[in-house]
Amino acid sequence: MDFHLTDDQKDLQARARELARGSFEERAAEIDRTEQYPWHNVEDLKNGGFMGMTIPKEYGGQGRTFLDAALVIEQMAQVCGVTGRIVVESNMGAISTVMKYGTEKQKKMAAAFVLDGDKPAICITEPEAGSAATDMTTRADKKGGKYILNGKKHWITGAGASRLHLVFARVFDEAGEEQGIGGFLGVREETPGLSIGNREPTMGLRGIPEAEVIMQDMEVSEDALVMPPRGLRKGFADLMDAYNSQRVGAGTMALGIAQGAYEHALAYVKEREQFGRPIYEFQGLQWMLADMAIQIDCAQLMLYRASANAGSGFPDATEAAKAKVVAADMALKVTNDALQLFGAAGYSRRSPMERFCRDGRMFSIGGGTAQILRTVVASRILNRKLPQTRDGFTKLAEREATMAREAAE
Ligand SMILES: Cc1cc2nc3c(=O)[nH]c(=O)nc-3n(C[C@H](O)[C@H](O)[C@H](O)COP(=O)(O)OP(=O)(O)OC[C@H]3O[C@@H](n4cnc5c(N)ncnc54)[C@H](O)[C@@H]3O)c2cc1C
Repeated sequence: MDFHLTDDQKDLQARARELARGSFEERAAEIDRTEQYPWHNVEDLKNGGFMGMTIPKEYGGQGRTFLDAALVIEQMAQVCGVTGRIVVESNMGAISTVMKYGTEKQKKMAAAFVLDGDKPAICITEPEAGSAATDMTTRADKKGGKYILNGKKHWITGAGASRLHLVFARVFDEAGEEQGIGGFLGVREETPGLSIGNREPTMGLRGIPEAEVIMQDMEVSEDALVMPPRGLRKGFADLMDAYNSQRVGAGTMALGIAQGAYEHALAYVKEREQFGRPIYEFQGLQWMLADMAIQIDCAQLMLYRASANAGSGFPDATEAAKAKVVAADMALKVTNDALQLFGAAGYSRRSPMERFCRDGRMFSIGGGTAQILRTVVASRILNRKLPQTRDGFTKLAEREATMAREAAE
């Protein structure tokens, strides 16, 4: 696979870097301290053409690829994780789901929101359904030409700042028969019954809210349902296919944060002297730096591969899972080691090192934990869907025995 960037990609990367190294780097500590959503940065991202880059040209976007978006995310996250996250969610996840699966009307609406500076929220997780996402209880009941949604989501990134929401729910027809899982579009301050609940006090990425999203008799017309290509029965699988773009985006944020921390550490070891010499002369520290560089490269290659291989579709589930696992583990190690190289200065809130550590912590949790993503990879290696419930393997064994019996008859 060839990752020589085109002139256009180099230009995009350079423009992103210029913006990031200008005002975004300056504002990053303040965003973290005040825990305020960075509307200034959103305006700059919008003016720079970094919101909705992946939206097709016919809907007002630039028709850029996920690899293009990854190049921008990396630059932003090197200086400000929160801004990196806004770029992820305005080019991947919910917006790419709608642009791929949505109707004309849905695509036009979603594109207009994002190009105007909105970062849509993707609402899957519930208090009792985290890793076991298909245990969600949020339901959408069909009534005439409408759906009525009831339920509660939590840990929704951007809740309270985002306008457009893609809400995953179990769908029931008029007779009360369950049809499967679908995604519904709702707009904060427009859709009746959609409201924002409590905000979590988070460890890192503090400038972007993580909050509850509550659907209480949330009423939408039937055309708010984003119909997955294989219908509602396979709805969750198709929606998660689309979600692989967000996983690659999250991994790329982890990469950028680690690169940012590494860059600071590399500069510091050249200027800090102890025992009458710069500390980079100690071989123990040279090997730490070498390990960081190796791990960063490894994650970058895997993330670029997953993005590039998406073509005009979504990243492959296994490539996305592998890349996110590697990037998340790498970010934990690299940000921690980078802080170590600063000694006490890294532990102070005057330096950005502790922020890099806090911001880099979430990637083995949010968007599929490190354990669940390893299960995704194992599933591919073993070539079977691996049930996680207590009776799941018994049922699988019974099903396989029946299939073998039928095949033999
Ligand atoms: C910063 C942040 C942002 C987020 N943003 C969003 C968002 O925008 N939208 C959204 O819908 N959700 C979001 N989430 C939620 C996130 O997707 C969930 O936290 C995640 O899916 C895990 O669910 P949980 O926290 O309930 O953990 P649990 O599922 O309760 O897991 C607890 C522990 O058990 C492990 N575990 C669980 N099941 C298994 C298993 N079968 N095998 C092995 N280990 C297992 C997990 O890996 C974990 O270590 C976000 C979370 C964070 C931290």
